[in-house]
Amino acid sequence: MARLIISADGPEKFAVWKEAFAKAAPDLTVCSWYAPETHLLPSDYVLVWKPEADHYAALAQAKAILCTGAGVDHLLQHPHFPVHVPLVRMGGEQTAHLMADYVTWAAIGLLRDARTWAIQQNQHQWVYNGIARTSAEIRIGVMGLGHLGAHVATHLARVGFQVAGWKRSAASVPNVQVYVGQEALPEFLATTDILVNLLPSTPQTRGLVTYDFLKNLPRGAGFINVGRGEHVVQADLVQALDTGLLCGAVLDVVTPEPLPEQSPLWGHPRVTVTPHVASEASAYKQAEYVAQAIGQLERGETPALLCNPHTGY
Ligand code: NDP
Repeated sequence: MARLIISADGPEKFAVWKEAFAKAAPDLTVCSWYAPETHLLPSDYVLVWKPEADHYAALAQAKAILCTGAGVDHLLQHPHFPVHVPLVRMGGEQTAHLMADYVTWAAIGLLRDARTWAIQQNQHQWVYNGIARTSAEIRIGVMGLGHLGAHVATHLARVGFQVAGWKRSAASVPNVQVYVGQEALPEFLATTDILVNLLPSTPQTRGLVTYDFLKNLPRGAGFINVGRGEHVVQADLVQALDTGLLCGAVLDVVTPEPLPEQSPLWGHPRVTVTPHVASEASAYKQAEYVAQAIGQLERGETPALLCNPHTGY
């Protein structure tokens, strides 16, 4: 019988996880990492989010590590993360659906300039600023067509947008034009009215979005960042917004988080900031996903979202 030790979100969240696993996977034994009687065995699985510095030595003994986040850059960047232990990223249908809903909301907000409506409402101003432009006229480009990106892209195509995506290796995604590799990037950007970032944070992708990078987009394009804050050089983004290179940005992820009080992004008239909320499945759905992945590992199968520590995602 498999045993899961949970450190994710600290000792106070354990009761919530315990209840979720009791419903989603009653056969799985779950223990709190923080209980004095818990001693990790080589047959144990561990569920983590941001482990404390003194957890890493013990994590090296686990059978596999499962992360409550789809992005595991923070783990792989830790000097003591045990890369020999299998690491499974968060996935599942609800995670992908939540992301698709968020990006659809953000894209339609940019299409209709909803940020200006919010400012007008705040100032009690009734200024007519309707925009006669539909989703069918807008080309959306999704950077990163993995578990989340592919789902988001097909969802946006169903909504009616013209959708393309950019990734490293060739793939086919229904109703999505796929651009592959560095050499295809200029053409991908030149035909993108709203750019969505859903890349993982790796040495190759951190700092990718600069002013010069954004200059490749048609003037007045929109930008949605749901990947990681580190993908973007923030001063360059503000410059692109201030000079009209971009018409607006919706940022769910920033660096650092939380966004500092003095950041120009808070009050920027072209920026919508949300507190990294785009996609976090319910505890029950996460427990269901984790139990399925453990079942696969127990049977010697490879879970779809097993991280490759060499590529960083
Ligand atoms: P995946 O690993 O499934 O997909 C990553 C995609 O990015 C793949 O298509 C991959 O291409 C592509 N990619 C990676 N490196 C490059 C590169 N250098 N050039 C071009 N394409 C590249 O990740 P997920 O879809 O599960 O998650 C994506 C990210 O979303 C996470 O890493 C995390 O940062 C973020 N996230 C944000 C959340 C939020 O609430 N804001 C919630 C969850 C995740 P290929 O397939 O060809 O290898």
